[in-house]
This record gives sequence, C-alpha cells and structure tokens, in this order.
Amino acid sequence: MHTEQIIGSTSFAQKIRIGVLGFGGLGQAAAKVLAPKQEMILVAAADNKGYAYATEGLNAQKCITTYQSQGSVGYLEPFGTLTNHSIADLIESNQPVDGYFLALPNLPNDFIATVTKQFIDSGWRGVLVDAIKRTSAVEQLLTLKEELQTAGITYMTGCGATPGLLTAAAAIAAQSYAEIHQVVITFGVGIANWEAYRATIREDIAHMPGYNVETARAMTDAEVEALLDKTNGVLTLENMEHADDIMLELAGICSRDRVTVGGVVDTRNPKKPLSTNVKITGRTFEGKISTHTFTLGDETSMAANVCGPAFGYLKAGIKLHQRGIHGIFTAAEIMPQFVK
Ligand code: NAD
Repeated sequence: MHTEQIIGSTSFAQKIRIGVLGFGGLGQAAAKVLAPKQEMILVAAADNKGYAYATEGLNAQKCITTYQSQGSVGYLEPFGTLTNHSIADLIESNQPVDGYFLALPNLPNDFIATVTKQFIDSGWRGVLVDAIKRTSAVEQLLTLKEELQTAGITYMTGCGATPGLLTAAAAIAAQSYAEIHQVVITFGVGIANWEAYRATIREDIAHMPGYNVETARAMTDAEVEALLDKTNGVLTLENMEHADDIMLELAGICSRDRVTVGGVVDTRNPKKPLSTNVKITGRTFEGKISTHTFTLGDETSMAANVCGPAFGYLKAGIKLHQRGIHGIFTAAEIMPQFVK
C-alpha cells in the first residue's frame, strides 16, 4: 500500500490514489468531490469505452469535458486509452491505485459482483467501495467475503446515500433504544434531466410494479422517456428491495422486515420533491416508544449524499486495509472517516 499513516494522527503521508469506475452522473460528481481534497487524488477513471490514468492526478474538469463532448475519458490526451474492456485493461495495466469507487450501473444485478471477481482474480490489493442498492446485489457480494480476505481486498458495500448515509444514521439512532420497531427511509431526489443519471433512473424503474431489473435494463432511452412522459417525470417508489434492510440486520440492529425504503424522484426539476429522511422507532429501556428522525438538508444533492459518504468509507477502508483487515464490511458497521 502506497499510503502511510502518520502514527497517532489521521493524516496520510501520501495521498490516497483513487480510481473511479463508471463516469456517468455519480462518477463525474465523484471526480469533482475529489478535486479539492488533500488526502485523496483521482488517478484513474473508466467508462464503458475507455479509461484514463495519470500518476500525478487527472484533472476532473478535463475528464468531464472529454467524456461529455466525445463520449469517453479514453479520448483524454495524453492519458486516455480507448477499449471495450476498460475495467479489465485498467486493472491489467498494473498502475498503482489504492482504492476504487465503483460508480457503475448494477445492470444486470450481478454486474458489480462480476467486477469484484475480476479484482479478486487480478491479484490487486486495496479498497473497493460501492453505492450499490439492492439487497440481492449485496447478498452476492457477501458470498465473496472469504475470497476478498484471501485476495487482500477490503470491500466497503452499500456506502452511498441509501443504502449508506441513512443506514449509518439509523445504526447510530438505534443506540437510544432497547428494541428497534421500525426503520423507515423516505428519499426525495430532484435532478434536472434523467440522462445525467441513466443507470440510477433505470434501476429505480426496476422497482416499479410491472418492472424488474431485466425489463428496466432492456428499455431503450426512448422507452424510458415515454414512461417519464406518462408520469410527468416523477417516479414514486414504495417498498423497494433496498439493502438497508440486510445491512441493519447484519449489524444486529433489527430484522430486515422492520426496514422499509421508498421515495419520490423528480427527473425534471433539481428541487427535491420531499426532504430525504430516516425515521427510527423503538422502545427505550424505560418502556417509552419514540421516533428519532434524521433529515438531510434539501440543498444537498443526491450526488453530494452519495459521493461524500463513498469516499468517507473508502478512507475508513484504507485504515482497515493498513491494519491487515480484509473482507467485506457495510456502511452500517463501520464509521466513515471525513476526507480532508
Ligand atoms: P450513469 O448511467 O450516469 O453512468 C454509468 C457509467 O458507467 C457510464 O459512464 C458508463 O459508461 C459506465 N459503464 C457502464 N458499463 C461499463 C462497463 N462495463 N465498464 C466500464 N464502465 C461502464 O450511472 P449513475 O446514474 O451515475 O449510477 C451509478 C450507480 O450508482 C447505479 O448503480 C446507481 O444505482 C447507484 N446509485 C446509488 C445511490 C445510493 O444512494 N446508494 C444513489 C444513486 C445512484
């Protein structure tokens, strides 16, 4: 590992070298989040047509402009490579990267697990973090625990907003209670246009009645637009299959059937249709029933609430890795570290 922790301090002697896999809405936001950081540096980015790598760091704005104007960071001069196997080629290039944020669509539902196996098989050692959403997707990753341990990889899963920030808030709020009755997560997302977050929107559609991951994945952009036209751009989601449930169950907080997730996504207005919140209801040791509510500020975007936690957990993962702790951890069992 390249990073050396200064003993007794939280600062790192050298910057943590970050790769961002997937350079759509979240990947680009991740690059912008990293740009002013002193402890982390973006050295690699990949999309489905290419990748870019620079030891001294990639310029976030140049990567974004290249991606938006030419369709791939692979066109970035002189750091880009065009390839249809960007992830495999980037890993095989053996460039030193300490941690990767997987800002990839999980379409099909085992895609991120497949990418994880590529990392395991490659001999690369470091930290992986995802913002994966479905319970069944997290379950697949959990089966890789021993392989990740053997490979020397520390994998942080479910580290976006929900699952992620809100799940962690629920884990903290639970401490007031002797018994947890219910965890209710309700998110509001406002984005100016759905094309900025195609995978997020397709994956949300997959939760609607009459759709599943495969049908949503197979939809053309025109079909997504036609669906959004019918709903005036608004998706209302209830009882979603969200990994907050398994994460809180694994953390020993409550059984998964006590956790519910739903939300409203407006794809035509950056203003949130409702305030994202998590309500944790339980019984105190005195026998009182109460509810804690943690509400995100309406001005915070989905991108801010996903990418901030993702890098906070990546930093926590680096510290675990440095202590020789490998395997897989969720956002509900580890505290994220603030990245300076
Ligand atoms: P997007 O559609 O905007 O971008 C996806 C990117 O991945 C594109 O750059 C694309 O080129 C790249 N890509 C696709 N296939 C690839 C491949 N085989 N190899 C390399 N790159 C590939 O996606 P998005 O809307 O930014 O969403 C990314 C993920 O984040 C989704 O899975 C979404 O569900 C998740 N997400 C999680 C949360 C949370 O709170 N946990 C919130 C929002 C989004």
